[in-house]
Amino acid sequence: MSLPAIRISGVAKRYGTLQALGGVDLEIGQGEFFGLLGPNGAGKTTLISALSGLVRPDAGSLEIMGHDVVADYRNARRNLGVVPQELVFDPFFSVRELLRMQSGYFGIRNNDDWIDEILASLDLSHKAQANMRALSGGMKRRVLVAQALVHRPPVIVLDEPTAGVDVELRQGLWQFIRKLNRDGHTIVLTTHYLEEAETLCGRIAMLKAGKVVALDTTGNLLRRFATHSLRVRVD
Ligand code: ATP
Repeated sequence: MSLPAIRISGVAKRYGTLQALGGVDLEIGQGEFFGLLGPNGAGKTTLISALSGLVRPDAGSLEIMGHDVVADYRNARRNLGVVPQELVFDPFFSVRELLRMQSGYFGIRNNDDWIDEILASLDLSHKAQANMRALSGGMKRRVLVAQALVHRPPVIVLDEPTAGVDVELRQGLWQFIRKLNRDGHTIVLTTHYLEEAETLCGRIAMLKAGKVVALDTTGNLLRRFATHSLRVRVD
């Protein structure tokens, strides 16, 4: 069996008295399109933060393409692109400057050809010189996706990339993310939208109160729960 893209073993995280993650085990194969579903506060963002090294788990381990996130952070992080939920940027940087900085963070110089390709595929070429503060919310969200791609990571994690996004842009983002998956990227997507997970994901894990309460192929999960009851569980 080939190396899993992501291996999460017994990961626990407590904030004070609150158990945000209570021993999560997950293995996600290379090339999968994997959905992480769960209600507000289920622990999805905490799990992603642990994967990207922003949150240190109290117990357990996380690996990306065989690299331990704590012990081998540089290599783990090089293999991971993260699209965070929050639209936080320095408003005075242009889109291109931001993407160059992100490239620099990974030690990549002269990345403009690749940056141009990413901008074109996200329909952002015309905004390359624009300051971040001059972009619409939808454009900022696409810049977040672009940022996650500058170092060509094989594994991409998107934390509610379509939250607050209109239907048209949502469809555009879906198409783009699908193409990334077809091109061989492993995709992990957190979402509240069952419709989104159903359309895109091959497998789904449902998280509730920091624990995986269901893990199966999307088809099997939908068969197990009537669509209505699953929607109630998710929202
Ligand atoms: P949402 O769908 O609303 O984004 P989520 O599934 O991503 O939720 P998390 O953001 O991971 O959930 O939060 C899990 C729990 O941990 C919540 O109860 C949240 O209040 C708590 N939490 C998250 N970050 C912190 C923090 N930095 N300090 C204290 N508690 C936190």
